[in-house]
Amino acid sequence: MAEVELVFLGTGGGRFATITQKRRTGGIRFLSKGLNMHLDPGPGALIYSLNMGLDPQKIMAVLVSHSHPDHYTNAEILIEAMTRGMLKKRGTLAAPRSVLFGNEECGPSISKHHQKMPERVIEIKPGVVFHVGDTKVTATEARHADPDTVGFRFETPDVGDIGYTSDTEFFEGIGKAFEGVRLLLLCVMRPSGKPWKGHMTTEDAIRIVEEARPEMAVATHFGMGMIFRGPYREARLVEEKTGVQTIAASDGMRIRVGEEIRVERAGREQRGLKDFLRSSGRK
Ligand SMILES: [Zn+2]
Ligand SMILES: [Zn+2]
Repeated sequence: MAEVELVFLGTGGGRFATITQKRRTGGIRFLSKGLNMHLDPGPGALIYSLNMGLDPQKIMAVLVSHSHPDHYTNAEILIEAMTRGMLKKRGTLAAPRSVLFGNEECGPSISKHHQKMPERVIEIKPGVVFHVGDTKVTATEARHADPDTVGFRFETPDVGDIGYTSDTEFFEGIGKAFEGVRLLLLCVMRPSGKPWKGHMTTEDAIRIVEEARPEMAVATHFGMGMIFRGPYREARLVEEKTGVQTIAASDGMRIRVGEEIRVERAGREQRGLKDFLRSSGRK
């Protein structure tokens, strides 16, 4: 059976996790025979992509869920890679209004120059549907400080659906958009008992997972409070309350969705950033 592989180039989110790089913030690469797509390229997307041997010039699409730096900072440089150094009109950029044009709160966060080079630029809002390679993508509703924020539902031809909430608070019906997905990625920035408007806590994640009932839930995009509390413990809470297998993402982790869903954590043999910089001849 065909497989879709998700590579976590980052599992941190929010200002302080990003500033300190307690967790990486490079976003998630989707890879399959018919797909090479980067979701939410925050700081580190380029360097960890190279570090992990994932050629950014092979990317077919860059998706940005909203106009916060932990989601968009490396979008321009990935567009440069995708368009072979801005020499070839190629690939897809999909992002909401805030990222492309700016809104009352934030953005624009990708220059006009960089918006000219992809073959397609799609302005997304909830309900917008488009295809990347063999995968159908539907933008879903999210409620966050950037009012144009969207989540995504990816329908793959071979291995079923994958959902991504992006940054959002809980609201009635959010789980419905992800009903029946095999894998649900949740941006659980805050631990249980620490609610903050516009962001997801572990309790919110539990409600979403209860509604969506995925085959597996993945907590990611951890803020500082979550990192100190222990994402593994919080993921266990979700699993205990919902009965749905739930894991906490870790940097460099890969998830292979095929007939089964397999999780591979990055081993010690994976090169650290220091080794990478040294081997590239830099200090
Ligand atoms: Zn974020
Ligand atoms: Zn955000």
